[in-house]
Amino acid sequence: MTMVTNIRHFLDEEDEIPDLPLEAKALLSFLGSIVEAATIAYDRPVTLVDVKCRATVDGKTCLGEIEAWVYAEDNNIGWECLECEDDGIISEWVGTIWDRRDYVCH
Ligand SMILES: [Zn+2]
Repeated sequence: MTMVTNIRHFLDEEDEIPDLPLEAKALLSFLGSIVEAATIAYDRPVTLVDVKCRATVDGKTCLGEIEAWVYAEDNNIGWECLECEDDGIISEWVGTIWDRRDYVCH
């Protein structure tokens, strides 16, 4: 099943990263990299993210390549591992510290 993450759930009232447990920090850094890559390449249909898949396959970390894109209909960011097809959707990323769209051009 596709994992849907509201990335703002990780942030405090000032939209900053609070002191999180290590596992949550690792997940947040994974998701943040996906948002950054997708927003830097906002006008492209799909982009490769500079992180490796975190899924466990046969007792080992997958480490496959991750692709990300932005859904035109709801502006959520989708991602998928090219190896194990682990996937997810990130919502509520607009205006977070990972939103790297160039506002000057819009
Ligand atoms: Zn994978």
